[in-house]
Amino acid sequence: MQDQPEYMLGVDIGTTSTKAVLFTTQGKIVAQHAVEYPLLCTTPGMAEQDPVQIYEAVLTAIRNAVSASRVDAGRIALVSFSAAMHSVIAVDKDGNLLSNSITWADNRAGAWAIRIRDELDGNAIYRRTGTPIHPMSPLCKIMWLRHDQPQLFARTARFVGMKEYVLYRLFGEWLVDHSIASATGMFNLQQLDWDDGALALLGISPVQLSTLVPTTHHLTGLSPAIAQQLGLSPATPFVIGANDGVLSNLGVNAIGPGQVAVTIGTSGAMRTVIDKPLTDPAGRTFCYALTARHWVVGGPTNNGGSIFHWVREELATTESAAAKLAGSDPYDALTKIAEGVQAGAEGLLFHPYLAGERAPLWNADARGSYIGLATHHGKEHMIRAALEGVIFSLYSILPAVEDLIGPTTRMMATGGFARSALWRQMMADIFEREVVVPESVESSCLGAAVLGLYGLGKIDSLDAIGGMVGATHRHLPNPENVALYRRLWPIYEAIPKLLEQQYRELSQFQRETAAKKF
Ligand code: ADP
Repeated sequence: MQDQPEYMLGVDIGTTSTKAVLFTTQGKIVAQHAVEYPLLCTTPGMAEQDPVQIYEAVLTAIRNAVSASRVDAGRIALVSFSAAMHSVIAVDKDGNLLSNSITWADNRAGAWAIRIRDELDGNAIYRRTGTPIHPMSPLCKIMWLRHDQPQLFARTARFVGMKEYVLYRLFGEWLVDHSIASATGMFNLQQLDWDDGALALLGISPVQLSTLVPTTHHLTGLSPAIAQQLGLSPATPFVIGANDGVLSNLGVNAIGPGQVAVTIGTSGAMRTVIDKPLTDPAGRTFCYALTARHWVVGGPTNNGGSIFHWVREELATTESAAAKLAGSDPYDALTKIAEGVQAGAEGLLFHPYLAGERAPLWNADARGSYIGLATHHGKEHMIRAALEGVIFSLYSILPAVEDLIGPTTRMMATGGFARSALWRQMMADIFEREVVVPESVESSCLGAAVLGLYGLGKIDSLDAIGGMVGATHRHLPNPENVALYRRLWPIYEAIPKLLEQQYRELSQFQRETAAKKF
C-alpha cells in the first residue's frame, strides 16, 4: 500500500435503496449516502422497480458520499459494487429498456416455478446452477415472460440484471459477475458458464445474456463527463463485485470454515462460506459465488423482521401507539413486554410463514399459526412466541447447511433484529452457541470494497477483513433457556410437515376469498 491514505468506495444497489460508503483502506467509514426508491406493486404478485430511477440513485449516492467526504478524487483507489440478486430487465438490441426491473420479490412466475420443479427436471437444473427453483429466480421469470408475455419476449434482445444495467450505462458493456450470475438459475457452477440445459428450456441463447466475468474483474475509462458528475477521476477503476448476500458474509468476516452469518432484516438468511460449489440433493440450500475459491451456501427465509413489524401493526397496536406517544421505539416497548414471559412462552408456538416460506420448506403456500394457545396465554406470550418463532424458523435451516458442510461454529448476527438484546439472546439459546454482533454497519458495502481491494491486488487475501470488523455484542447460551427450547424444538419442527396439505388448502381458499389479493 502507498504511504498516502487511500480510500475505497463500496456501493450496494439494494431493494429499498442504493447506499454508497467511502471507507479508508483500513475499513473505517469516512462518509456515506443512501438514496431510496419504491417497489412498484400495482397488480397481484408484481414487485418491479424503475431501472432509470435506480441508475440515477447510484450516481447520486456516489456523488454525495464523495463530496461529503471532502477526499481528493485522486486518492479514491476504487469503486466496487454489491447488488440485490435475481432481478430481470428486458432490453432491445440498442440497450433501450423494454421492461422495468422485475425484482426477487415478484411472485408472478409462481406457477412456472412449480411446473419447472415438478415436470421439467427442476431438481437437475438446481443441482447444476445452485439456485433453488423458485419464482424469485430469473430462470422462472424468463420462463414466465416467454409464455405469458410472448410479444415482449420476442422483442427482447437481452435479459439483464440491475447491476448489469448500471454498468452498461457507465461503461457501455453488458457484463455480469459470476456471483450475480450464480443467482440466476442459468449459470453452471462447475463450468463457470451459462448452463446449456437451462437456456434450452427457456429458448434463449448465451448472446441474449451478459458476458460472464469473475467478481474481481475491473473496468476503467469512465467518460470524463460522468466522472465529473460523480466527483471521481476518470482513471478510477470500477470493480464489478458480487451479490449482496455473499458480500455481507465477507463484510462481517464470516468467511472461515464453519462460520455462519445470520441476517434478520425485513427477511432473513443464514450463510456460510466453503471453497467449492456444493448443492443439496434435497434442494434446500442455495450456492452462490463470492470468488473462484469462495462459495456461499445457505438458505433464505421470507419471514424475518417483517413478523415483528406485523406484530407491531396488527397485534399490539395499542401498546405500539402508547410507545410512540411517549416518544419511545415501539419495538423496544414490545421487546420489554416479551421479556416478562419465560423462554418458550409457556408452551405457545408461532410458525412465522405469513409470506409463505423459502428455506427449508420452499413452500409458497405455507401459512403462519399460533399453536398451543391456552387460557393462561396473553398478548405478552403471543409477542414472545412470534420472536421465538422467527429464530426457530431460521434454526430449521441449519440442518440442511450442516448436512452439506459439516458442523458450524461461530455465529455472526446482523440486521435490524440485532437492536433487541432479547432477540439476540434467543438466537444464542435456540442455536446453542455464542452469537456475535459485528460492529460493521453496511456490511455489503464493506464486503464490496474489500473484494475490490483484492481484485486490484492491493491485498493478498480476503482475510484482511479480519482487522476491519469489531464486535459490539456477545451472547452465550443460557442453560435454563436451552433446556426449555430443546423440549419445544421437536414439536415445532414436526408441525409444518403435518400441515402441508392444510397449508395448500388454506392458501387456495385465501386466494379465492381474500379482499386484498396477493
Ligand atoms: P432491511 O432488511 O429492510 O434493511 P433492517 O435490517 O433495518 O431492514 O430490519 C428491519 C427490521 O428490524 C424490522 O422489521 C424489525 O423487525 C427489526 N427491528 C427494528 N428495530 C428494532 C428494535 N429496536 N428491536 C427489535 N427489532 C427491531
